[in-house]
Amino acid sequence: MSENVLEVRQLKKYFSLPRSSGGSVRAVDGVDLTIGQGEVVGLVGESGSGKSTVGKCIVRLLEPTEGTIRLHGRDITTASRRQLRGVRTEMQMVFQDPYSTLNPRMTIGDIVAEPMQLHRLARGRELDTKVAGLLDKVGLASHLRHRYPHELSGGQRQRAGLARSLSVEPSLLVADEPVSALDVSVQAAVLNLLMDLQRDMGFSCLFIGHDLATVEFLCDRVAVMYLGRIVEEVNTTDLFRAPKHPYTQSLLSAAVVPDPKLQRTRQRIVLQGDIPSPINPPTGCTFHTRCPVAQLPLCSDTSPTLTDVTGRSHLASCHLITADGTAPDVTLSQTTENAWSKT
Ligand code: SF4
Repeated sequence: MSENVLEVRQLKKYFSLPRSSGGSVRAVDGVDLTIGQGEVVGLVGESGSGKSTVGKCIVRLLEPTEGTIRLHGRDITTASRRQLRGVRTEMQMVFQDPYSTLNPRMTIGDIVAEPMQLHRLARGRELDTKVAGLLDKVGLASHLRHRYPHELSGGQRQRAGLARSLSVEPSLLVADEPVSALDVSVQAAVLNLLMDLQRDMGFSCLFIGHDLATVEFLCDRVAVMYLGRIVEEVNTTDLFRAPKHPYTQSLLSAAVVPDPKLQRTRQRIVLQGDIPSPINPPTGCTFHTRCPVAQLPLCSDTSPTLTDVTGRSHLASCHLITADGTAPDVTLSQTTENAWSKT
């Protein structure tokens, strides 16, 4: 059996457009991703980078167009609906908006109990005890089991969603921006809870988000996505200490640091324009239309390969990273047509 909990190889998800236009949206365009036992991997990128689509393909809410997805070494890419029922106990998803995923006609207690009943994991008194234990674990008072989702706050609903997902004791949790719909005041509490539960229960986690401070706090390793592809992937420390890809450097320059003195000295690099359309992505390096250090025609003609640029499992795809792993410094770039402005 594989040591990895999840192995994704060359995952593609294209959405067909109406026949008259004849094209397709390349939401995910060849993603490789591995998650080890008990590992928390962050998947970050701008809106439209394809990160949520990767998560939905992994849990098979979406059918991949190409590629393979292995869970504990077992290929689940084309698993039937019946086969997927077994897989659901090993893999669960937490969504951005808990309200839309909790059945409004069921009480919180019934919502948490439902997966255990469906998978025949517990019944009767044992089921009751497990529901009480799960609510306690996620910090929900016992009387809330009789309430309906609309009677709970956003933070409480996300806690209920977590309790439901963890009720089957999955080995992999895919968390798709689980706190971005919550008030800032409750985001930290839910993130702390997620981290405590992960340490306590030992499940692996794919954490999809765009807030880099959150990702740094939670994740062991981070993969950065741009226009359907991973452009950089490395352990969290190295990503924040020495990002290699110009896109990652721009994302990190926009992140707020807790030290006000340091924050004042930092140069923020603002990317010009929006992420290009995945219907007709740029040729070569898909980032070349926004990259301040792009060298044309090299970057517009040739697609860089995602390779280990340091010999220490630091993957990045950029023509300008030298053989000794030195990255192009985007803060030194001159303003050009496709350059960025600095604020
Ligand atoms: Fe920028 Fe070229 Fe590197 Fe792409 S390959 S990130 S366009 S320098």
